[in-house]
Amino acid sequence: MSSNQRSHITKVVVIGLDCAEPSLVFERFADRLPNLSLLRERGVWGKLRSCDPPITVPAWMSMMSSKDPGTLGYYGFRNRADHSYEKMTTATSLAVREPLLWDYLGKAGKKVILLGVPQTYPPRAVNGLMVTDFLTPSIESNYTYPPELKQEIAGLPDVHPYEFDVSNFRTPDKSIIRDSMHRMTSKRFALARHLLTTKPWDFFMMVEMGTDRVHHAFWQYMDPSHHRYEKGNPYESVIEDYYVHVDNRIGDLLQVVPDDAVIFVVSDHGAQCMEGGIALNEWLLQKGYLVLLEPPAAPGRLEQMKVDWSKTTAWGSGGYYGRVFLNVEGREPRGIVPAAQYEATRNRLIEELEALGGPDGKPIGTRVLKPEELYKTVRGISPPDLFVYFGDLRWRSVGTLGTGELHTFENDTGPDDANHAYNGLLIAKGPNVTPGGPISGMQLMDVTPTILRLFGIDVPADLQGSVIDEVAPSEVAVN
Ligand SMILES: [Zn+2]
Repeated sequence: MSSNQRSHITKVVVIGLDCAEPSLVFERFADRLPNLSLLRERGVWGKLRSCDPPITVPAWMSMMSSKDPGTLGYYGFRNRADHSYEKMTTATSLAVREPLLWDYLGKAGKKVILLGVPQTYPPRAVNGLMVTDFLTPSIESNYTYPPELKQEIAGLPDVHPYEFDVSNFRTPDKSIIRDSMHRMTSKRFALARHLLTTKPWDFFMMVEMGTDRVHHAFWQYMDPSHHRYEKGNPYESVIEDYYVHVDNRIGDLLQVVPDDAVIFVVSDHGAQCMEGGIALNEWLLQKGYLVLLEPPAAPGRLEQMKVDWSKTTAWGSGGYYGRVFLNVEGREPRGIVPAAQYEATRNRLIEELEALGGPDGKPIGTRVLKPEELYKTVRGISPPDLFVYFGDLRWRSVGTLGTGELHTFENDTGPDDANHAYNGLLIAKGPNVTPGGPISGMQLMDVTPTILRLFGIDVPADLQGSVIDEVAPSEVAVN
């Protein structure tokens, strides 16, 4: 007599730490992070390759949909709204059209709790409840599903007033940022504990943004390779201390999680030292790709300049990565690049941008990519024609022009010390997980199919990731 048995777990917890950097968690700070290190010891772990671009929006939704950003149709928080030159749109939850992990779970009757997952504002109905993310405009917004959950949160003394993000994390007063990060994180974990202990759930997921903010605000103080690093500075241990704080909060939270739950800790991308910025539009201007009707009166953003579109081939935008848009005949209102010249123009830009060196003229390892090389399909009203990873992401893209300088060490949006890195991390521990690590070859889009399999739910054929077998072993026939 034989029968096929599927033994499925009943509960899954995902703790998302935005931007958590594998080399810090697995190596540099590991001895001071007992809870994360214990999870690794008892589970599996490794780097988790982010999507392209490795940016919060679209990364979390790529993870939760198991679709690449081309399929999702947005390439950052701000995207072109149409083919005009200036109109931009914000990728909120309303831009998310693909089904997400919790949609599949809800259909299968699983109760979900979602707390702070990027790109969930404005909230949507789920089979369970939701508190929206760091892009929520304010505590006055309708930030919960169901709506009455908001009143309940306002009544929690260790949570109210709830904080979505560090307010003003680019301010020069570093001690304010440090203190508000700790406070915000304590509140988020207190709310997580409240929800986990008072609401029904099969799937719980939270995302903490402080890990991202701490890198951007404090990297220069801890990294001897940063050009502004000073040994013995008063903020040297801020990043490490913050990770310790997060590790303690994780330890507290896991006390209320049943032993047979599968626990994931994931990040959407990593962080690395930012060496400086490259003024993309300034470069395009100097090279003659971008033409102005009159020289800039003062340095400013492209929108502040009088662009001669009838002579402009390409323009760009700033951010952790650069985007280049071509002014294509028949596509843009005053496009001049003929369709027949489109590929040749892109190829020339790739060659020249990759050759653009650092201040000393030496190559910095810039990579320029075409969207169709990165994605299964390319959707969206107007995806960038080129993605530019300056210095392989050790340099950011600066949109400002008019300084005459190609290299800048001051950010146009305030102090910022870290850029994103391609690899985030994954730690998973559960009753059927055989400890071992590091595992290689994991990527963001693998998380959703892995969790579906853990729940015994069929993985839809159009998901682009694969099940991580070390976390969700395929079903075994039991005699
Ligand atoms: Zn992120």
